[in-house]
Amino acid sequence: MLQKKDLFCMIPKVDELLNNDKLSILFEKYPRTIIVDTVRLCIEEIRQEIIGLQEDKVKSYKVDEDQLINQVIRQVENAWMMNLKRVINGTGVVIHTNLGRSLLSEAIKEEVWNTAANYSTLEFNTETGTRGSRYAHVEDILSKLCGSEAAMVVNNNAAAVLLVLGTIAKNREVIVSRGQLVEIGGSFRIPEVMEQSGAKLKEVGTTNKTHLADYERAICEETAALLKVHTSNYKILGFTQEVALSDMVLLGEKYNIPVIEDIGSGTLIDLSKYGLTKEPTVQESIAEGADVVTFSGDKLLGGPQAGIIVGKKKYIDRMKKNPLTRALRVDKLTLAALEATLRLYLDEKDALIKIPTLRMLTLSPIEIEGKAKALLKEIGKLNLDHEIKILKGVSQVGGGAMPLEELPSYLIAIKPFKKSVNQVETELRKRKIPIIARISEDQLLFDCRTIKEEEFDMIIEAFADILRT
Ligand SMILES: *Cc1c(COP(=O)(O)O)cnc(C)c1O
Repeated sequence: MLQKKDLFCMIPKVDELLNNDKLSILFEKYPRTIIVDTVRLCIEEIRQEIIGLQEDKVKSYKVDEDQLINQVIRQVENAWMMNLKRVINGTGVVIHTNLGRSLLSEAIKEEVWNTAANYSTLEFNTETGTRGSRYAHVEDILSKLCGSEAAMVVNNNAAAVLLVLGTIAKNREVIVSRGQLVEIGGSFRIPEVMEQSGAKLKEVGTTNKTHLADYERAICEETAALLKVHTSNYKILGFTQEVALSDMVLLGEKYNIPVIEDIGSGTLIDLSKYGLTKEPTVQESIAEGADVVTFSGDKLLGGPQAGIIVGKKKYIDRMKKNPLTRALRVDKLTLAALEATLRLYLDEKDALIKIPTLRMLTLSPIEIEGKAKALLKEIGKLNLDHEIKILKGVSQVGGGAMPLEELPSYLIAIKPFKKSVNQVETELRKRKIPIIARISEDQLLFDCRTIKEEEFDMIIEAFADILRT
């Protein structure tokens, strides 16, 4: 009579398995420790299975070595996959913070890799042979594009706001409208950043209305700056009033107080020319007289994560000397990607085509419909027994920019018959290259605005795997 202890004896030993031909070739491709750990893990799983076996099942139980080996191979492949991996964004949210915000342009691949894989002039001035500034590489082009006297770059816009306030207003007061005390996703809150910077927040006005006189009344000897925050991710509608930047600038000049603007997303191109809602451009803020303007590198700009600070030289110079700058400093990869992205802006048409964020935002509905039709045609060839069609829908800008903007788009909608929508959504999400879709009214939606043509094959393969079985 076969007993559990007999089954345990049938489990192959670790060394035996490692010498198996199918597994030993894994050593050419994967680190030994991953293979050994996986073999141990898989053996342990079988041991546990046997332990949990009901007595009447013992007799018919078989230790299947081939199956075990295949499982090891699969798990080794999985264990070696990067944790941080690419995904296919079918959500239609262009600047999706959880999916990495802006995609870098293919056009800057070489520039970024060249800097990454070689020694560089990061902090070296080849003219003089002496130490240089890492900020110098992007300062001229930023100043040129934004029309500012000076510029510098830190890790993200939160860091930029922190540095600006910590430099200009430490231990002094900064006047902000109550309607602009925003929270941006991922725990960036203006009052809290301000507290960290050492600046004292002086709120004026009410949630819906702030007048110029409110700012003027709050000005005192302690006032270090007037701050305007672009309420990127929400809109107050109805009975509202905000003071225009130009009026704040006049007030600032009257009392000799600098005006700082956090414009959040920071676009260099007036996207209203291309059918989107008007957002203030960085150039406009500088032209209207803001002393310092901060914005993100990876929102509407479409570059790497960065916090960009542009404005008057006397303030930027002080920021460069602030010890905090060392803690917030950007890496060479960021600088390379940012400089290369900014260069694309020297030709606006080029920027709109080559910078993926701008390209996706300005795709015409006809272009997206074309993509949807092409994808649907390929899916049709799979002969799947599911309802699949094209729907009109809307995509979002994301990244806290233009919250009310509804970009007309075309979506592939799938109603699975043999599996639940949730099941299919999960399986898509758990693939080696996860595919992220939306669920609405019991169907899966794939917005073709944020799906690249080169991703079609991966999507079709996924549908074949998941919907055919
Ligand atoms: C997004 C945003 C921030 C934070 O920018 P990060 O680059 O994510 O740090 C700050 N202020 C405003 C108004 C924003 O929209």
